[in-house]
Amino acid sequence: MDQSGVAAQTQKSPWGPAGPAAPACPLTEVMSEQLARQLEEENAAFPSLTDPAADLLLAEDGADTTSDLMLAQMLQMQFDREFDDQLRREEKKFNGDSKVSISFENYRMVHPYEDSDSSEDEVDWQDTRHDPYRADKPQAAPRRGFSGKGKNITTKHDEDACGRKNTARMDNFAPEVQVGDGLGLKLSNQVFNALKQHCYSEQRRSARLHDKKEHSTAEQAVDPRTRLLMYKMVNAGVLENINGCISTGKESVVFHADGGRMEEQPVPEEVVLKVFKTTLNEFKNRDRYIKDDYRFKDRFSKLNPRKVIRLWAEKEMHNLSRMKKAGIPCPDVVLLKKHILVMSFIGKQSVPAPKLKDVSLGAEEMTEAYHQVLQMMQQLYQDCNLVHADLSEYNMLWHQGKVWLIDVSQSVEPTHPHGLEFLFRDCRNVSTFFQKRGVSEAMSVYHLFNAVSGLDVPVGAEDEALFMAEIVALEKRNEDHVQKRGRKTFPAASEDGGPPLEPDSDD
Ligand code: ADP
Ligand code: MG
Repeated sequence: MDQSGVAAQTQKSPWGPAGPAAPACPLTEVMSEQLARQLEEENAAFPSLTDPAADLLLAEDGADTTSDLMLAQMLQMQFDREFDDQLRREEKKFNGDSKVSISFENYRMVHPYEDSDSSEDEVDWQDTRHDPYRADKPQAAPRRGFSGKGKNITTKHDEDACGRKNTARMDNFAPEVQVGDGLGLKLSNQVFNALKQHCYSEQRRSARLHDKKEHSTAEQAVDPRTRLLMYKMVNAGVLENINGCISTGKESVVFHADGGRMEEQPVPEEVVLKVFKTTLNEFKNRDRYIKDDYRFKDRFSKLNPRKVIRLWAEKEMHNLSRMKKAGIPCPDVVLLKKHILVMSFIGKQSVPAPKLKDVSLGAEEMTEAYHQVLQMMQQLYQDCNLVHADLSEYNMLWHQGKVWLIDVSQSVEPTHPHGLEFLFRDCRNVSTFFQKRGVSEAMSVYHLFNAVSGLDVPVGAEDEALFMAEIVALEKRNEDHVQKRGRKTFPAASEDGGPPLEPDSDD
């Protein structure tokens, strides 16, 4: 049969359909199918880009698209990630197999921690638990200003010691300046001063650039992911407004905010957001407070660094609620969101209550404050089963005629392997402060330690080394006991592990 014959048979009219009619399909379906295919192809080309965005958009409350600002933030973050990804590819191409490689790290947009979901950022925690700058046991500084004998005298001008001290002091530069951990580095005074000068001028320059338009330059102190979480709180109505930064410390940034509404509980009119810093450098020095805290021990070992930081916020929340139950004046916990803890503001009309170190009190009030602090330390130890572990005039606020305790993320139970040493340090700070402020009743550190703990460590001739040795021996005995029979030997320590820990809900 010839071809034209077939054509003549099947084709009745010259413009009729050539084959069997396709099933009817609406135009929108065709278009969305095309779009889906196109997206799939794009995803295949950039596999690593899709996950973080999905993580962001689908986190907790689902896609929150009511705020233009937030949308802009999300888009910016997505853009930054794509930029970084492209940069990484270019860096790889540029360096090839060369033994000497050039890092493009400084050109990246997203803070390095942002990618810490990936395995390459999983830090080996064994390596970071030791703080090379801090002695394991508290050391009394030599009063003479030098140590050693004869030819082996080491003074405070010793090159080696100075170098190490300078490296450690780099941490005190502005929070936005990344100094790295400086392990093993010894900076000469000259280099240290030059670096410091550079940081200050950078800070001034940055302030000049931002102060025209930015609501608060302090926002620069937190990373984009944190900023987004903060905006989400405003968007959800929990906060009315985030006003500005009260303090930028090494380990946290504290913001003042106006409270909004929550269904479950009232939100105070004024609140603070304590944002625990998510850069690993800052936090590795603090591991020993948490890794030996049995309440967090199991979870600590399993977590990646970013989640460990959330434990700090969680720890502060649990410790604050124990204190509240015991009637110790401290902030009320409002909300915990990842590494951001929202709590009531101690102060009035946006003015934070002054630290005890900054307030000038009359002799009578100062004595009252001392007795109150003594009582709070006892309540903390005996009722809350906690040692503050960073108690000083910096972490006590003076408000409404009394002392308020804050900053308890590092607080541990007395049976923590270093719990009593931490208590001794707290006692020394308190005792020294009140003695300097002329409170004649202020006990010596040794008597204060016994008064707070209820222990009867021999005071003898008030020799610190001997006293410390007794304390360390007690801790050691307790640890042996824990190994054999479980926790608890010190008197007045209750077995309450605090409120139940909530499971980690997302990512
Ligand atoms: P850090 O670990 O950085 O020292 P803190 O909890 O001590 O963190 O907070 C730093 C500073 O922020 C405090 O010294 C205090 O001035 C202020 N601050 C913290 N919490 C509150 C609060 N609830 N109310 C008012 N000011 C606060
Ligand atoms: Mg503090």
